Order: sequence, then C-alpha cells, then structure tokens
Amino acid sequence: MTSNVLHFHTDAEIHKAAETARQTFRSGITKPLKYRRHQLEQLWRLVDENTDLIIEALKKDLHKHKNETVLGELIPAKEEINDALEHLEEWAKDEKVVPALVNRVGVTCLKRKEPKGAALIISPWNYPFFLTIGPMVGAIAAGCTAVIKPSEVAPHSANVMTDLFARYLDNSAYIVINGAAQETTKLLEYKWDHIFYTGNGVVAKIIMRAAAQHLTSLTLELGGKSPAIIDEHANMTVAAKRIAFGKSFNAGQTCVAPDYVLITAKAQDKFIKELKKAFEELYSKNPQTSTDYGRIINNRHFHRLSKVLHENKSGEIVIGGQTDEKDLYIAPTVIANVDRDDKLMEDELFGPLLPMIQVTDVDDAIEYINSRDEPLALYIFSSNKKFSNKVMDSTRSGAILVNDTLMHVAEGNLPFGGTGPSGMGSYHGKKSFDAFSHERSTMVKDLNTVSEAAMSVRYAPYNDTNLKVARLVLESVPRFKKSFVLKHFKWIVFAIIFGIGFKRFA
Ligand code: NAD
Repeated sequence: MTSNVLHFHTDAEIHKAAETARQTFRSGITKPLKYRRHQLEQLWRLVDENTDLIIEALKKDLHKHKNETVLGELIPAKEEINDALEHLEEWAKDEKVVPALVNRVGVTCLKRKEPKGAALIISPWNYPFFLTIGPMVGAIAAGCTAVIKPSEVAPHSANVMTDLFARYLDNSAYIVINGAAQETTKLLEYKWDHIFYTGNGVVAKIIMRAAAQHLTSLTLELGGKSPAIIDEHANMTVAAKRIAFGKSFNAGQTCVAPDYVLITAKAQDKFIKELKKAFEELYSKNPQTSTDYGRIINNRHFHRLSKVLHENKSGEIVIGGQTDEKDLYIAPTVIANVDRDDKLMEDELFGPLLPMIQVTDVDDAIEYINSRDEPLALYIFSSNKKFSNKVMDSTRSGAILVNDTLMHVAEGNLPFGGTGPSGMGSYHGKKSFDAFSHERSTMVKDLNTVSEAAMSVRYAPYNDTNLKVARLVLESVPRFKKSFVLKHFKWIVFAIIFGIGFKRFA
C-alpha cells in the first residue's frame, strides 16, 4: 500500500545526504563501469519488479490509468536504462582526436569522459517516475553520485521512490531527500557539481541563482506554451485525434502538451467537429465517467485552471467546460476564437484547456509564435512540405514535431530539452550521459629529443628564420583555395622538413 504522508527531511538529514554524496564520489567507487552497470541493472529491476506498486501510486496521485503509466513512465524509463546499458562502454571511452600540426610530433590528444561529481536532481510531479529515473540514468551512467529530490506534490510516488531507491540502489551514492520549497532551498545551499532541475520557469530562476553562487553547471528542463499550427489543407480527422491525445494524456499535465491551436477561420469549424468526435472516441460523451481520463493533481492547480477558464474575456467554449472540484475533474475543454492577449494566452496552461486562435495564414501564425517565448515543442499539422519547412525555418523551439504530438519524447536518439525560457541543456540517450559528464581535454606528450627538435622554433631567442619556418609550417592556407597542393601545402612542407630532420637523426 502506498501512502500520501511524506516525511520531509530535516536540515541535519539534508546535510548528511549532501556530505555523503560528496564523500562517496571522492572515494571513487562510482567510477568503474562495472559499478555503474550494476546500479543501472538494479534500476531496471526496481522498475520491473515494482510495476504494480508504481501504477498504484500514480493512480492515487493523478488518477493515471495504468496504460498511461506504462506508456508514459515505465517503458520510457526502461528504454533509457537499456540504452545506457547497451552503450555505456562506447559513451564512456576516451575519444581520440587528431592533434593540430603544432602538436603533431609525439603527442596524443583525447577527450576523457569524466563524471562531474555529486549531482542534485530535482523533479516534478506530472511524470514523477520517468522524470526522476531519466536524469538518474544519466548520473549513474556518467559515474556521478546524486541526491534526488522528488516532487512533494505527488506524495504517493515520492514515497514509493524513497523506499525503492533505498532498497535497490547503493545508498551511499543515491540518496532521496523529500520536502518542498524550504527543504529544496536548504539543498541548494550546498555546492553541487551539477544540478538537474525539471519544473516551472519561476522556480528555475531560483535554482539558477543558487547555482550561480557556486558556479555549478545546470540542466533546466522547463515548459512553456507549445503551439500547434494547422494547415487548412491538412487531414483534419487525423490532426484532431492526435491533438486530442496530446492534450488529454495525463489530463493535459504534460510539459509538451499542445497548449493552443493556430488555425484559419476557413478550417476552424471542420477541425472543431473532428476534435469533438476525437474526445468522445477517447473518453465517451462524459469523460468524468471514463476510467481512462486523469484528474488535476491538487486543489491549487484545479483553482488555477478553473480561474483561467472562467476569467477569460474572449472566445466561446465549444467542447467541454465542465468542472467538479470535489473530483478535481476538468473536462477536455476547447475554447474557440480566443483573443491573442486573453488570460488563457498568458501562462502555460498545463491542463486540459485548449484555446484556439484564428490566424489569417501561415505568416500570421509564425509572427504570433515569434512574438512569444520560445516554446518547448512546436507542432505542425500539414502534408505540404513547403508549409512545414516555412514554419521550421522561421521559428524557434526546443523541438518540432510534424503531424503528431508528444511522440518525439519517446525517441531516445533525439535530444530532449528547451531553448531560452523553455530550458537549458538536454538529455535522453547519450545526451543524458553527456549532461553529467565533463569532457576533459587531455594532451600527453613525449619527452624525447625528436619532438623537442620539431618544437624548437617556438623558443626565444626569437629570429626571423624561426618565424618564417613556423609560418610556413603552421599558418593555414585559406580554405577557399581549392587546389590540392595549396590545400595541403603545410602538410607537404611539414613532411619534407620532418623527413629531412629524421634522415639526419637516423
Ligand atoms: P513542482 O511543483 O513539482 O516543482 C518541481 C520541483 O521544484 C519540486 O521538486 C519542488 O519541490 C521544487 N520546488 C518548488 N518550489 C520551489 C522553490 N521555491 N525553491 C526550490 N525548489 C522548489 O512542479 P511544477 O514546477 O509545477 O511542474 C510543472 C512545470 O514543469 C510546467 O511548467 C512543466 O511544463 C514543467 N515540466 C517540464 C518538463 C520537461 O521535461 N521539460 C517535464 C515536466 C514538467
């Protein structure tokens, strides 16, 4: 049985966790690949052997249907773990680079992949398992230790994670701290080697200010208003179904849920008709009675959403609109003809409300998107390549998905992250490993006389001959000169000089 009573850790426990994570990292035990592999395997077992418990926790926290838990949390988490297990050696091995000519003799150049150190992972409530385990995979694979701060807003999930991480993982390296703003503020007083935060932009600024005190690197996985632009010639039936799916999965509480729709007046009626049909197919005429439809996480978010729905000054509700506070229920709701500066268009909605804004054409839609913060995702619905290329070429966003919603998140080989106010840095697959790693530039030189002779032109006393030789060998020919001899001139001169030198020594 999961519990909603979450024990918040004390300052002393927080201190101990931060110290332990640092000491354990310094001890070096998290560095060998065998250790990392074992912890990753344990993480996989943790998910696999406790599927029912996790499903139960999410049912209690978010009324999440088990299919949504399996598809949106457990499979993606396991995929991330499997990907890391499959590629760990490849990601972690030194990467050789070809030295520049100035260092060509007796030199090896490498990028060593080193763990950043003791990391702090702060996660949110909407996909509490995947958004905690995902960054942990990166931290473990990279050889870091981590203190993990799950969201107090999903207490059943936080309790399950606290219990399972302690049972399955090395407790001296991966430690859960529970709490809210006060406890997180305490955690942020310590020096971390990387902070990975997922949540809203307001708190991200607090995190960034705290990180600045120690010049700690950051990954910020944030949100924003992700638009969906619909070409009036698009297949409205399929577009509507996929937008309805993206807007109602986890009751719209998804960072990459389509936040609003941009559509022409000509296409609007047909789209609304298809959207209505799509929501009915998903959850029947009364979604409140459907076991498949989620609930709003808590009263605070319920009131935030109800307020924005009822205080909006423009537009008309064309689908849904029903709310039930006792049940934390808000129906999938579509509001058409919303003004561009309406309350609904101020902040990320993060719930099942879908405003629709009329645009005159694609240029008008692009202009509107560009007048706002860069979104986390941008959705384009069109079979016309010119249309989608135009939108892609003229806008910015964390990601672009043409003709679907949400599914790019499942693509482990694509970096997941925002740009500007929607986030900083990215993860998933190798990017998760990279987020917690430092590429340490490493140059190893010989101490022999041949390489010393080759380097001698750099030393004082300076003279014009040395300068001429150095320029001849080191100065590049402009890349726009196409001839083979010119392009490879310095190599040819270098080979001749080195050949002569070698002959003398031999
Ligand atoms: P939340 O309330 O759970 O907060 C996230 C974390 O920040 C929690 O662990 C919480 O304890 C901590 N926190 C809250 N207030 C704090 C404070 N004052 N100081 C320090 N720490 C504090 O989650 P949320 O922020 O409501 O999450 C929703 C937001 O997160 C949305 O904007 C959504 O788009 C974004 N999000 C982004 C992603 C992504 O991967 N890019 C994923 C999920 C959610």
